[in-house]
Amino acid sequence: MNDIILLKQGEIVLKGGNRRSFEDKLVANVRRRLRAFGEFEIYTMQSTVYVEPKVPNIDLNEVIEALKKVFGVAALSRARACEKDPDAIFGAARGYLGADLGAAGSFKVETKRADKRFPMTSIELSQYVGGLLADAFPDTRVDVHNPELTVCIEVRERAAYVHGNPIAGAGGLPVGVNGRAVTLLSGGIDSPVSSYLIARRGVQLIPVHFFSFPYTSQLAKEKVLSLAKLLTPWCGRLTVELVPFTKIQEAIRKKCPEEFFTVIMRRLMMRIAESIADSNGCKALVTGENLGQVASQTMEALRCTGEVVSLPVLRPLIGLDKQDIIEYARKIGTFETSILPYEDCCTVFTPRHPKTRPRLEDVIAAESALDVDALVKQALEGVERVRLDI
Ligand code: ATP
Ligand code: MG
Repeated sequence: MNDIILLKQGEIVLKGGNRRSFEDKLVANVRRRLRAFGEFEIYTMQSTVYVEPKVPNIDLNEVIEALKKVFGVAALSRARACEKDPDAIFGAARGYLGADLGAAGSFKVETKRADKRFPMTSIELSQYVGGLLADAFPDTRVDVHNPELTVCIEVRERAAYVHGNPIAGAGGLPVGVNGRAVTLLSGGIDSPVSSYLIARRGVQLIPVHFFSFPYTSQLAKEKVLSLAKLLTPWCGRLTVELVPFTKIQEAIRKKCPEEFFTVIMRRLMMRIAESIADSNGCKALVTGENLGQVASQTMEALRCTGEVVSLPVLRPLIGLDKQDIIEYARKIGTFETSILPYEDCCTVFTPRHPKTRPRLEDVIAAESALDVDALVKQALEGVERVRLDI
């Protein structure tokens, strides 16, 4: 008899009419994620996804670690399997949840009975096992209204299962249910976090990175690919689009006033990103911009960069403090890579005195020295794609 894993769906349950397609997506994502671990039976019932190993010797702790990164799962539990017999169920609860029962101030037992042939009702079984547990753990009170620990029993076709309080899942919505977007991924701390936050809303991402070889090194490019790879457990498989940006930066440096370098450069990035979005059916652009963090992130500068595209620009970090962003980066595992000291294409051409409140008409005038369409076209022709599996 194998233990099983139960995944509680989060917000999906609020989705009314779309619920089925949300559930199907979640199950498909879970299936894909677990393919490498062995064979499972995976299905949904009553807002719960059941993950049952079909073969022994699967390391369920590793499976749980992987499932903790699947969006759309609010909480998960590993449930201990036992015989469908009241005393065996009590034995499993005492053995498997003994430490939790000893530590909790109060508990209750809750039973779900999928196998209706089981001779006791759910209430009878809860009372029977609850009574025995109360005797076995005399210091733990029974509290049916507000227990610290809920001992859950499920009587199912193949076996009975026992589990305690669930652990937190990744939350959000299953990747794919909210369409696709291009995310502008630099080597910094912010954009991996913005990518994570939008993926968590059910969006499948195409990361786009601009590099300026030889001003930025091969290592800088590899750093971005490592960051994207670190995102795959959350976002699923990613294909990174690497865009050569050197010619554009050189043209800007040669032809535009220095105080507008950054904002013009970002306008070119947005145009290229939008073009990649259009060819891939993406409905939005995602950036790691944050109000007031640097000169190019004032409201005036954001207007100038957003103005060149018609797709919505999602900026999930806009109102966060740097410290909040760093906490996210640590939590999702990208922080240590983000702080590696490789130069970014923005920093190489940073003007000494950037305009913090650029006027749109001045920027447009400064940019008119460039053949924007030709530069965009040329950059798009040089795109290199790297596919990253989880
Ligand atoms: P990050 O930490 O994400 O690099 P940042 O605070 O350094 O952000 P900027 O360098 O102004 O801010 O960049 C703002 C946003 O523009 C980034 O979050 C990212 O979405 C995008 N961006 C910047 N540089 C690049 C690049 N080389 N390739 C792709 N996107 C980029
Ligand atoms: Mg940056």
